[in-house]
Amino acid sequence: MNTKLFRAGDPDAAARAAAILRAGGLVAIPTETVYGLGANGLDEAAVARIFEAKGRPQDNPLILHIAEPARLTDICRDIPGAAWELARRFWPGPLTMVLPCRDTVPRRTTAGLDTVAVRCPRTAVTREIIRLAGVPVAAPSANLSGKPSTTTAEHVLHDLDGKIEAVVDDGPCQVGVESTIVDMTGPVPRLLRPGGLAPELLEAVLGRLEVDPAVTAPVAADAVVRAPGMKYRHYAPQGQVLIVPGSREKAAAYIRRHFAPGDAVLCFQEELPLYDGCNPTAYGREDDAETLARGLFAALRELDRADISTIFARCPAGGGVGYAVRNRLRKAAGFRIVPEDEL
Ligand code: AMP
Ligand code: MG
Repeated sequence: MNTKLFRAGDPDAAARAAAILRAGGLVAIPTETVYGLGANGLDEAAVARIFEAKGRPQDNPLILHIAEPARLTDICRDIPGAAWELARRFWPGPLTMVLPCRDTVPRRTTAGLDTVAVRCPRTAVTREIIRLAGVPVAAPSANLSGKPSTTTAEHVLHDLDGKIEAVVDDGPCQVGVESTIVDMTGPVPRLLRPGGLAPELLEAVLGRLEVDPAVTAPVAADAVVRAPGMKYRHYAPQGQVLIVPGSREKAAAYIRRHFAPGDAVLCFQEELPLYDGCNPTAYGREDDAETLARGLFAALRELDRADISTIFARCPAGGGVGYAVRNRLRKAAGFRIVPEDEL
């Protein structure tokens, strides 16, 4: 298949993308978080093609994207007041809510669950595409399963060229990490995945927010978890990522002691001078977590090479979107972190 490239600025890009979606095709769409691999979320056969193109495990459900918060009632039922409040404050934006699902949503989209994850993205061309398609658009991140998410159209083509009908290019994503997922089906809202929306902002509105154990620790492959996606190896380049915590000086000393030819360093811009000769890649500024979020997946992709064995990685402390960056890096590392007493 010849994958078409549409520019978001082209006057007919949204209409052409929507026509493909209506016909059961796959279109990679830009969002403020990462690029999504879109299909008609109500069409089982189209949804099946998403799983096939990505190599995604069948038990990992998809997020449905809507153009307007009001469309929530088309796909969800028993929507609590708190969910409407979150929608009012944070949509369109990098927040996904898990809610009880209506029968109109195929079980293939929800991987057999009776709940569904929903988000209203911010990117103008994508909201227009969804509006014109006239259906909720199922869209997981537009990468091969297990690989870092895609934040440019070039990344998407690298993974999916020839497997999907089209990509809509809107340049690099503004946020750079996926949405924050909150489960609104229980008595207390639960954070299933940190992401582009700071958990502090959610907590301020909700009062209480539980954090799912899968956010902070590895999950066994046979475990039953609330967000099935959390149990899979994810975001990982071919080499082994190893997180090196601690102060700038201690971390640099540790890395310089253990660095071998063929290794690489993923660090903050401020640290570059410390890693002369250690093949360093900076992914953003330590004093600005938003730059780290924007740069993380592109940097992991650059380092995804067979000739790199260990990637020593520096991880931000603190909250906001830094919390999501930390979560993605820990997952990329398979939770391998140098113990403080070895520094
Ligand atoms: P992706 O779109 O690739 O970023 O992955 C979507 C994430 O949403 C995965 O981690 C899924 O497990 C999670 N997800 C989707 N639907 C549900 C649901 N109904 N309940 C819990 N988690 C969900
Ligand atoms: Mg993904």
